[in-house]
Order: sequence, then C-alpha cells, then structure tokens
Amino acid sequence: MVQIFGMFKSRLKEKLIFASMNPLNSRNKIVKNIFFLSLALCTLLAIAVTSVFFLNKNKEAAAPVHKPNKIFTVIVDAGHGGRDEGARKGNIKEKDITLAIAKQVEAFGPQYGLKILLTRHTDTFMNPLHRVAFALQQNADAYVSIHVNELKGYSYVSGMQVYVSNKNPDFNQSRSLGSAVAQNLGADFKVSPRLQQRSENIFVLADNYLPSILIECGFITNPNDLKMLTDSSKIQLIAKQVLTGISAYARHSVINQYAVQIASPSSHHKTGYSEGTRIKKGRKKNSKTV
Ligand SMILES: [Zn+2]
Repeated sequence: MVQIFGMFKSRLKEKLIFASMNPLNSRNKIVKNIFFLSLALCTLLAIAVTSVFFLNKNKEAAAPVHKPNKIFTVIVDAGHGGRDEGARKGNIKEKDITLAIAKQVEAFGPQYGLKILLTRHTDTFMNPLHRVAFALQQNADAYVSIHVNELKGYSYVSGMQVYVSNKNPDFNQSRSLGSAVAQNLGADFKVSPRLQQRSENIFVLADNYLPSILIECGFITNPNDLKMLTDSSKIQLIAKQVLTGISAYARHSVINQYAVQIASPSSHHKTGYSEGTRIKKGRKKNSKTV
C-alpha cells in the first residue's frame, strides 16, 4: 500500500514537473486564469448593474407625486392669528373667521377621504416660515391657505378669489388644485372665474414645496360677504366645497383649468403678515398682504 502510494506520488511529481516545463500547458493555465477572471468580473458587473437598478427603483418609489399607499394629506392654513388679526370689521376679525373655516375643513375631511392637518388650532401667531416648515415636516400633498379679503371704501366689492404663484415649483399642480376648488366654491358662492396671482410674492405660495393655493373667502368690508362669513351653516358649506375641490384634484379629475391673471394690488388689506408678502422698503404702496 505504501509502495503503491509512493509510486503514485512519484508519478504525480513527474506529471507536475512535466506540466510546468510544457509551454502548451502553461498557456492553457493562462487561458484558464483569464476565463475565471472574466467570470468573476462578469459576476461583479451583474451585481453592480442589479444594485443600480434596485436603487433607481427605490428612488422612483420615493417620488413625491401622489403617493398611492398614503391618504391624500392636505395642510389647511388658517390665515393670521394671535397679534396678527388680519382684516377687521368692528369686532369681527379675519383670524377668527379663517380658523372657523379651517376647523370645519378638518372636521369633514375624513368624509372626503382626505387627511387634513391644520397649521394652527388656536388663536396663535405663526410666521410664514413656520407654516411652510410645518407643511414640509408632514410630507403633505397640498397646501391650502384660508383668508378673508377687505377693501376699505369699496363696500360694494364682494366675492371669493383663489390665488396661485408661478414661483411655486408645482405651479401647474397648484393651478389644477386652484381650478378645482374655485369651480366647486362657484356652485354656491360668487367666485372669480380666473385664478389670481400677485405681482409681489406671497411666501406661503411662492416659497412652498408642494402644490399651494390661497383662498380669499369673501370681503369683510362687503355687508353680504360679512353676513355669509359669520353664518356657521355658510362656513360649513365653504368647507365642504373646498373639500370637494381638493378631492377632485386628488383623484386627478380636474376638468377645467382656469386662466391666471395678475391681481390688482388695490384689492388687499395691508395688515398682517401670515402669508409673508415681501414688503420692500421705500415701496410702501406695494406692501400689501392678504
Ligand atoms: Zn389675510
């Protein structure tokens, strides 16, 4: 046994010596090595390509366009608050009307399949940056700011207006949302047939990172609008039509895209800074807020 093994060992040795001396065999070795190296490279390449593919796929899934597995979430921003009263007629203040409308939108939101988050629930001051930052934190799908207009000395001016901003990165989406809301509000109220845009920026529209609109729900300086804005059943109706509009937008079923016009700067009141219209020094005539 030991002998046979010894013979086998010596033959193997001979074979190995022969092989190492044979140039043909070493060429085969090189070919073999190249083959295995190529195989390893191909495997690495395949792993790399697969990883890139899956990474891209995850990126696509994280895109913020109407996340399908999530309830459509809307930030509803009650304009003004705290020391910033907004428009005022006697004891009636814009900040209270906007909060009342926002709370109704929040209350009825689930009936429309929408998740509504308010920027404020109480009479507190918030600057525009905080409002936009809040919206960003919530990973919301849209932003709707509620306001009331005023035009002192022109009590006959009445009706609602919906504002958008072409500075918003989702301007076209904002336009669709604004059109849907304006159209539905128009079923029960007097609403401008065009969307409005300010020549000066409105912070919560222009510097926001999601489709954003601002609704002026009527003029506090107009007797009929004031009556409507202090009637709880009308406030509920405003809230429901706003929700119907948002819901149509969320379902991608906006039919009419409204035209956008530059709003006359005289149609806004000056007080308040909740929407953050940029006030330029030395140009007080243009320092309007909503
Ligand atoms: Zn306002």
